[in-house]
Amino acid sequence: MHNKSLTELSIALRQRQISSVELTSLFLDRITRYGAPLNCFITVTPEMALNQAREADKRLQAGDAGPLTGIPLAHKDIFCTKGVKTSSGSKMLDNFIAPYDATVVEKSQAAFMVMLGKANMDEFAMGSSNETSYYGPVKNPWDLQAVPGGSSGGSAAAVAARLTPIATGTDTGGSIRQPAALCNLTGLKPTYGLVSRYGMIAFASSLDQGGPIGHSAEDVAHLLNIIAGFDPRDSTSIDRPKEDYTLQLNQDITGLKIGLPTEYFGEGLDAEVGKVLEQALKELEKAGASLHDIHLPHTPLAVPVYYIIAPAECSSNLSRFDGVRFGHRCENPKDMIDLFKRSRGEGFGAEVKRRIMIGTYALSAGYYDAYYLKAQQIRRLITQDFKQAFHQVDVIMGPTSPTPAFNLGEKTDDPLKMYLSDIYTLSVNLAGLPGLSIPAGFVKQRPVGLQLIGNYFSEAKLLNVAHQFQQRTVWHSAIPKAYQ
Ligand code: GLN
Repeated sequence: MHNKSLTELSIALRQRQISSVELTSLFLDRITRYGAPLNCFITVTPEMALNQAREADKRLQAGDAGPLTGIPLAHKDIFCTKGVKTSSGSKMLDNFIAPYDATVVEKSQAAFMVMLGKANMDEFAMGSSNETSYYGPVKNPWDLQAVPGGSSGGSAAAVAARLTPIATGTDTGGSIRQPAALCNLTGLKPTYGLVSRYGMIAFASSLDQGGPIGHSAEDVAHLLNIIAGFDPRDSTSIDRPKEDYTLQLNQDITGLKIGLPTEYFGEGLDAEVGKVLEQALKELEKAGASLHDIHLPHTPLAVPVYYIIAPAECSSNLSRFDGVRFGHRCENPKDMIDLFKRSRGEGFGAEVKRRIMIGTYALSAGYYDAYYLKAQQIRRLITQDFKQAFHQVDVIMGPTSPTPAFNLGEKTDDPLKMYLSDIYTLSVNLAGLPGLSIPAGFVKQRPVGLQLIGNYFSEAKLLNVAHQFQQRTVWHSAIPKAYQ
């Protein structure tokens, strides 16, 4: 049962081959067995899960069930969950019990999905390897020496090890797509504004977007159906007609024009990864698509621009964690300044502090024009590159990550090296576009992801292209040995 797709699980639940309580118990048992060594959960909520499963069973019995009723999921610990610890991977929020549910959580509950627990993550979603978490690193189910990617590494590891059928993640610069790539999963970063940010602990608000991480495009489409949609509580949420992403998965892709940015296939890309992607692209050609070289000339500026804008926004967002309004409070403060200093000093980890310092610097009087404003101007040029490209092609493809999963500890001493892991994903957030990573093969038994980038609100198209690929390939159904 733990290897079934969401469609299969939905049918099994409706046909009463299994109840939601049984299915939930099965996944909770797997979490007990495998969760601790992988360290992919910060909190497991068995009682709550079984209660939700009982409710779901009532719905199923009454014939009043939605497509995902009774199906378990895990939420990244960045989504507020009422009455349940919501840490964002930080000591700062180690004692925070959220008083309300994030919209994404509310929507999954309204669909009578069952929450198994809260997934580990990089502290405040800052990282590419899950090693900045206050709760310790997560391990990659494909190889326990390897990182699962980040920041949604706990979500990805839990799905890859079949401890949950699907999970939510968030992506500010690659945090859904890159862990999906490193763990052989399908992960979607939706168009900015499609999924509500309400109750999602803010990192960089103009870039953050929640989305699903699952085994296939079809599974991802199912969860996107649930979590997407206008929310008046998020001022950047977009009010547009709802789509059913599962209904658009069987379109022929003959004539599809795929753009390959020359900037994504040059220096910096691991040669073996390049070969895997070439094979994947051939498969799409066989399905009727055509390949076209395109240019995204401002690509080399994405890393520097992102590492001004994201820290600037984070320095502002994280100012609320001062030991008074929110977060950890130090013992016996001498005075107010001491309280602020020590609470923040104790509560935040090294990477978060580094970003707050960079961001505060970039926003200070005299430097704002030189750094933040300039970065915003270049951000527009990066966006224009994509707009130009979408006049010529339907979908852009490239690597998700320049290398397969690297080893734990390999990049922790060198932040710049770590930042370069997101070189192919950052631009998509800067432009607000949707991006999808899908399994494309392996290099030395470590998974490789192919990234699909579409125009605004083209999620249905991306998921269809991915589904067509997955109908012809087996990569997405590979399961790490120890978790079969
Ligand atoms: N790795 C990038 C960073 O550390 C992106 C993280 C994310 O998408 N949340 O900022």
